[in-house]
Amino acid sequence: KLLLEVKDLTAVIAETKQEILKGVNLTVYEGEVHAIMGKNGSGKSTFSKVLVGHPDYEVTGGSMVFKGENLLDMEPEERSLAGLFMSFQTPVEIPGVSNADFLNMAYNARRRKLNQPELGPLEFYAYVCPKLNDLKMSVDFLNRNVNEGFSGGERKRNEILQLAVIGADLAILDEIDSGLDIDALQDVARAVNGLLTAKNSVLMITHYQRLLEFIKPTYIHVMENGKIVKTGDISIAKALEKGGYKAIAER
Ligand code: ADP
Ligand code: MG
Ligand code: MG
Repeated sequence: KLLLEVKDLTAVIAETKQEILKGVNLTVYEGEVHAIMGKNGSGKSTFSKVLVGHPDYEVTGGSMVFKGENLLDMEPEERSLAGLFMSFQTPVEIPGVSNADFLNMAYNARRRKLNQPELGPLEFYAYVCPKLNDLKMSVDFLNRNVNEGFSGGERKRNEILQLAVIGADLAILDEIDSGLDIDALQDVARAVNGLLTAKNSVLMITHYQRLLEFIKPTYIHVMENGKIVKTGDISIAKALEKGGYKAIAER
C-alpha cells in the first residue's frame, strides 16, 4: 500500500527564496526501507525537513501526499500525529522538560489521535523501561531534561527511543550514524530493525555504506543538486564506496 508520494517537489529557503529542492520525486510503499545518499549540500536534510514542515523552507511546486492526505495542508504537529516521524541531524535540547514527561506527552498525543487510551506516568514508566533497555540506555535518562548535556551518541539513542515510544508509519532518520561508534550504531540499528513491520517504512539519510550493512534498504537513491538523480539497489552504495559520486554519475 502506498505510504508517501512526492512529485516534482520544489522548495526554497523561506528567507532568501533560494531554491534548494529542484524537482524531487519519491514513492514509498508500506514495509519498505529507502536510503538517500548524496554529497554534502545536495539537499538531503532540506528534503526531510520540508517533508515534516520545517518553517525555514517554503514549498513552491509539486506535491507530497502521505497516507492519502496532502502534507501541504497540514501543520508540522498534524504531520507528526499522522505518523510521520523525523530524527533531526542535530537534535535539539528542551530545557526544563524531563525526558519522561516529554515522551509521555508525545505518546499520549498520538494515542488520542488513534483513539487509544492514554497512559499515566506509572503505566508509561512500565511501557518505556524495556525500550530503554533495548537501546542500552540507563533509566536515569528519563529524569534528565530532553537532550540537555547528552553526548552526541546519547542524543542519537534518545531520538530512536522517541521513535520506539511514539511509533511511526514513516520514520525519517537523518544521519543517525554520524558520530556513533560501532557498538552504538549496532544498538541503534537493532532498535530500528525491531520497529520495522510490513506496515511501516523508514527513509534514512546517510553518507556511509556502513549503516546500510545493519539496516538493509529496499531502495537506494542518490540526491544531487536538489534532485534524486539515481535509484537502485545496494549495488549503488557499493559503487559509491569504491568510486565516489563521480562513479555514479558516469554509470
Ligand atoms: P545535505 O543534507 O545534503 O548535506 P542540506 O539540505 O543541508 O544538504 O543543504 C543543501 C544546500 O542548501 C546547502 O548548500 C545549504 O547550505 C543550503 N541550505 C539549506 N538550508 C539552509 C538555510 N536554512 N539557510 C541557508 N542555506 C541553507
Ligand atoms: Mg550535510
Ligand atoms: Mg544533511
